[in-house]
Amino acid sequence: MLVFKKADSLSRYLSQQKKQGVSIGFVPTMGALHQGHLSLIKTALTENALTVCSIFVNPTQFNNASDFQHYPVTTEQDIEKLLSVNCNVLFLPDKSEIYPADYAAKHYDLGNLETMLEGLHRPGHFQGVCQVVDRLLQLVQPHRLYLGAKDYQQCMVIGKLVELMGKGDEITLRIMPTLREEDGLAMSSRNLRLTAEQRQSAAGIYVVLNGVRQLFEANHNNLQGVESMARQQLEEKGFKVDYLTIADAQTLQPPTARTHKRVVLTAASLGEIRLIDNLLLN
Ligand code: AMP
Repeated sequence: MLVFKKADSLSRYLSQQKKQGVSIGFVPTMGALHQGHLSLIKTALTENALTVCSIFVNPTQFNNASDFQHYPVTTEQDIEKLLSVNCNVLFLPDKSEIYPADYAAKHYDLGNLETMLEGLHRPGHFQGVCQVVDRLLQLVQPHRLYLGAKDYQQCMVIGKLVELMGKGDEITLRIMPTLREEDGLAMSSRNLRLTAEQRQSAAGIYVVLNGVRQLFEANHNNLQGVESMARQQLEEKGFKVDYLTIADAQTLQPPTARTHKRVVLTAASLGEIRLIDNLLLN
């Protein structure tokens, strides 16, 4: 595996590869890698001649200083894991490689994606996500970009970003399913920060989301009733709930008669640790 720390040497190498017709798959991450990340990389390896993973804990997407300070960093283990799946390239930049002195922050027009759900509860978060992904996509120029459905709204934001960058025809978005622990908890780097007791409670999110799905499949029409019952169940399990919402899976707006697919999305905290998850309903 080639490891690049400098943005210009990474982009020089990758543009040479691209000129030679090599297809490039890209998996951006913030490290503390787990099987969820590795599943994206494994798929990228099967679909591209060259797979690039980046690890960068992007400060501009954290709206909570403590969350940033405590974000797990496990670089040595990450490198071991990347080697174990035969990842081709790792980009491991310093902050100055992503945000050089002459970096001019842009504002991205994300429409109402920015004012709902994660956007509402984490002001500025998606602007930060767009800043880092914009910079990374300019450097990597991938054919395919691999994202996890666990970050459902983020996938929509990045889809919008790719459009805003005028790269809709160049980059194929590949949204991959959420990998879960045996008890259903969605794998997440932040799970490393849960105490043993919180870790046990954390599986409750999946139980509650599945309950929503079951009620839905039983043809339940009272969406608000289902939502508030599920919120209450999470609270009883010790979560502080930011939101638990059933939405149109394509727009994230409240479902209408024309809605095809619905998704239930939630963000809820155990102590300081904020977890997100979602499930498609039909
Ligand atoms: P992160 O390091 O949390 O920024 O995640 C990097 C990428 O991995 C994002 O596209 C995430 O959606 C994806 N990802 C995170 N957790 C999972 C998971 N449990 N299953 C599949 N993909 C995931």
